Amino acid sequence: MDRAASRWVLVMVPKFDVAIVGAGVAGCLMAAGLAKKGLSVCLIERKPISKIGVKVCGDALIADSKLKEIGFQPPKGYVERELYGFKVYVPGLDVITLKAKVLLLDREGFGRWLFERALDQGVTPFESTIAINPIISDGWVKGVKVKRLNEPPLTINSGLTVDASGVASFLRRKLPREWWVSEEVTRYDLALCYREIRLAEGFDDDYCSIYYDQAISPMGYLWIFPKSKGKVNVGVGLRMNVKAPLREVLHHHLACDPRFNSSRILHAGWGVVPARHPLKCFTSNGFMVIGDAAYQATCGLGEGLRPSIVSAYLAAQEAAEAAYYGLEDLWGYNVKYLKTLGLAQVQSAAFTYYFERLSDERRNKLLSNFAEGSFNLEAFLNFKIDAKILAHSAKLGLQQFKELIGEWRLVREVKSIYTAYPEASKNYPEWSLRADNFWSKIKASTY
Ligand SMILES: Cc1cc2nc3c(=O)[nH]c(=O)nc-3n(C[C@H](O)[C@H](O)[C@H](O)COP(=O)(O)OP(=O)(O)OC[C@H]3O[C@@H](n4cnc5c(N)ncnc54)[C@H](O)[C@@H]3O)c2cc1C
Repeated sequence: MDRAASRWVLVMVPKFDVAIVGAGVAGCLMAAGLAKKGLSVCLIERKPISKIGVKVCGDALIADSKLKEIGFQPPKGYVERELYGFKVYVPGLDVITLKAKVLLLDREGFGRWLFERALDQGVTPFESTIAINPIISDGWVKGVKVKRLNEPPLTINSGLTVDASGVASFLRRKLPREWWVSEEVTRYDLALCYREIRLAEGFDDDYCSIYYDQAISPMGYLWIFPKSKGKVNVGVGLRMNVKAPLREVLHHHLACDPRFNSSRILHAGWGVVPARHPLKCFTSNGFMVIGDAAYQATCGLGEGLRPSIVSAYLAAQEAAEAAYYGLEDLWGYNVKYLKTLGLAQVQSAAFTYYFERLSDERRNKLLSNFAEGSFNLEAFLNFKIDAKILAHSAKLGLQQFKELIGEWRLVREVKSIYTAYPEASKNYPEWSLRADNFWSKIKASTY
């Protein structure tokens, strides 16, 4: 869309059924889903149109049963390579294999494809346009104030306003503190990542590799994901409270791998990813939050593509079926997300908070049950620890058995809390207190 055309749109059509801020994976998908149902939708993006789709990322999409359920599949043209899962490395331990279908994407092409799909459905784009404030009146979000360079701010009125602005959670953070959706997030809840795309020979691996090594990447992880045509996506992510020179950390690790000896950097960049459990509430009157803005990435893996896709789908479904856009009308999105994908994510978060603070030696003990083993990633993320593993653990010694049982109990506890997520908003305050107590307990022993 050229500049003149978008000005015309700004002046002539200031009201939409739905205004979505952020044309990333989550925003584009939700916009397309709602426009397809006949709603008038606008998509507000601060980047110029030529940069939509560009994102520093590991590019790995876990194509599991959740994506199958919602019928989502990226076109073959944007899949550079299909891999069989993840090899997890912990110093001193044999590799653990987590099996899953993982698609290494042409990330920019994929992002642009999503954006174009939204346009094809009739979504109105506002590119190079920054959302600056939500419009709030009588306890409702009624639209968003936006600004383009050298143009006066403009008000876009909407029945529903959606924050899909990524980890900045731009609109949500400007809502009144007492609204449930305004849960506070600190920098401890975020991981800073440095990533390179390298041209390197000899990467015929069929798996993505992830390294958890306290000496090299404390409270974080390092990844090597092979792509097509000799390209490899490598990076490191550490909690933002850990002070470490990320680029040097990565280069130090790659220097130990001869396959990188004569490799060439094609692209390097930085990004931030959520490193916590998802928000407890994603809705308010006239408002929804999706994707990274809702902190829905899987903690410990930094995996946010699949969650963004699932949340956009669930949010669009809920909004399309809602008679009004009140908190209660949209509540089903909270329930559906947190009782499905969210349930695995809160368990992962509980485990990660604990795992992150263990020394490599204690990690070895905890994970030795799984060493050299091959597991289904989905089952692993859902902590389906069976009796055989517990029995094996008992044989390895009392200390190890206690460790595993202790952690298993925590994971069970958080699972039972989120399984009881309230079906109606009136029961939320009591439930929220229970969940807060759990997370405070875990975090108090972590930081
Ligand atoms: C280094 C790195 C590696 C990663 N690797 C993987 C991986 O391998 N696999 C995986 O599954 N996930 C990975 N992730 C996470 C994944 O990229 C994100 O979870 C996912 O892209 C989130 O999509 P989103 O649409 O919610 O947000 P985003 O993609 O961040 O989109 C948000 C959009 O909102 C726009 N915006 C922000 N503020 C405003 C504003 N005020 N006004 C207008 N527009 C605004 C932004 O410009 C952006 O286009 C990685 C993340 C990082 C940083």
